[in-house]
Amino acid sequence: MKIAIEGCAHGELERIYNTIEGIENEQKIKIDLLLCCGDFQSTRNLKDLQTMAVPKKYLDICTFYKYYSGELVAPVLTIFIGGNHEASNYLQELPYGGWVAPNIYYLGYAGVVQVNGLRIAGISGIYKGHDFLRGHHEFPPYTESTCRSVYHVRQLEVFRLKQLSGKVDIFMSHDWPTGIYEYGNKEHLLKRKPFFADDMETGKLGSVPLEELLKAVRPEYWFAAHLHCKFAALVPHQPKPTSCSSSSSSDSDGDDDDVRDMPSTPKSPVTTTKFLALDKCLPRRGFLQVLDLPSNPIEGKPHLEYDPEWLSILLTTNHLISVKENYYYLPGKKAGELTERFNFTPTPEELAIIHEKFSSLRIPENFQMTSKAYDPLEQSNYKHMYIEQPTPQLNPQCNEFCALLGIDDPLCLALLANGKQLPSMMAFEKEEENQEQSMNEELEETKSDSIVTPSKRKLNLNLPAPTAGDNNEKDTETANVDKNVIDLPDEPDKDEDVQDVSVVDKPKDEAAPAVLGSPKQFKRRNQSIYQNEDND
Ligand code: 5GP
Ligand code: MN
Repeated sequence: MKIAIEGCAHGELERIYNTIEGIENEQKIKIDLLLCCGDFQSTRNLKDLQTMAVPKKYLDICTFYKYYSGELVAPVLTIFIGGNHEASNYLQELPYGGWVAPNIYYLGYAGVVQVNGLRIAGISGIYKGHDFLRGHHEFPPYTESTCRSVYHVRQLEVFRLKQLSGKVDIFMSHDWPTGIYEYGNKEHLLKRKPFFADDMETGKLGSVPLEELLKAVRPEYWFAAHLHCKFAALVPHQPKPTSCSSSSSSDSDGDDDDVRDMPSTPKSPVTTTKFLALDKCLPRRGFLQVLDLPSNPIEGKPHLEYDPEWLSILLTTNHLISVKENYYYLPGKKAGELTERFNFTPTPEELAIIHEKFSSLRIPENFQMTSKAYDPLEQSNYKHMYIEQPTPQLNPQCNEFCALLGIDDPLCLALLANGKQLPSMMAFEKEEENQEQSMNEELEETKSDSIVTPSKRKLNLNLPAPTAGDNNEKDTETANVDKNVIDLPDEPDKDEDVQDVSVVDKPKDEAAPAVLGSPKQFKRRNQSIYQNEDND
């Protein structure tokens, strides 16, 4: 499979695709896959642009919106991770990954997918120690502080990636692993970037968790960006003792000598990781590299599939999600005592559960617009306009995935934990035509005072089981709760009878599950049912 790797995209998608086309014509080859290592800037519109952490004068809508609106179509399957310049509100809609435009797939906070058998893992964001131990507490509209912390790497994603066993072909990160420059031509790097010297000396150049992941996951290739220069390195790995060689440590301190308590797939011996960092997309800069890697044969389009191990890890570590701002700790060895499970490398039984849940591992092509696209004819003078930040938006792709796997959407949890209303999850295109219909339905519901029971929700929130109401309809899979993890809001005001928390009912059209039905109202008292349980 011919893969093009891009450093920082910085919103220049059209230029990148044109470059790829040029390479294809010049070399008489077909590029099957494009990997982008962050600073992707998937801004659909001017509101998205306000969520990007960059000085105002640099805010530029660039070209992603054309691929989002359908004006242009991405000519090659594109997979990307997030960096530190992103439409954070849009990426937060897809915490476990999803299509941001047709043929353009975001890997999520962290993710693992397979493209024709090639296993690709990645992690979004950059590392800042002061945010690493926090939960995913951010949501739009962002404050000065949360518009930055939202893209800071969290321990949970690192922990999850460390559970992988088996061979990972490609790992994608935005920043570099610390110490990586020791395995390449450091002198040449310092000649081009002399200002890296101080950070190298103090160990501050790059990301510590990425160095841990490099040692733990041992991928065949590692691609990165962020430091805006091309740099290659070969990282040798020490052989691991066979008794505990199949996975890395489960704790976040990089210690990898944990005794394993369950069988798993042995890791294929990757003795060296080939590291390549690329520049940002600018003329005469090393921003694109084409590699030819062995894969399953490609007939027509490449096949994008979920990775069963990753799905299992997402499921078995769902209780470890936190949406609190304060620091919390993940399970590990504490003073030699094992108090709870800390190794989540899937067992054969756990993998079988994934295959039961997913009859096909093919990632559905279920992109839908969830917000209006930028209109260059009406909005071209936007640099002189005041534009508000967006409000939170839920994405049907995430909803469908969470419901199928039985896990929680951290954005929903963060909103609920902060006493916010859950927004509608309708696709943008359907919004207007459904508006009238849903208003009628809301009226009907208010009249009949019917209660929407939690079991009818498409949202698979990991909230406590209701203490009252229709227990027969209780969804047992969603009933497991770690009270330490979810911070529920205080009892909302009683004076409003109905809180407009839109909870999506079953799809009206079962044949097209991605198009969700009209939102229902979730009664305030249903929220208090949850709260009561939490106090028990
Ligand atoms: P961005 O495009 O993400 O805003 O910024 C990337 C730029 O910041 C690059 O030019 C890179 O050289 C610089 N940079 C990023 N991280 C570091 C770091 O840890 N140390 C130094 N000296 N420069 C950095
Ligand atoms: Mn960057």
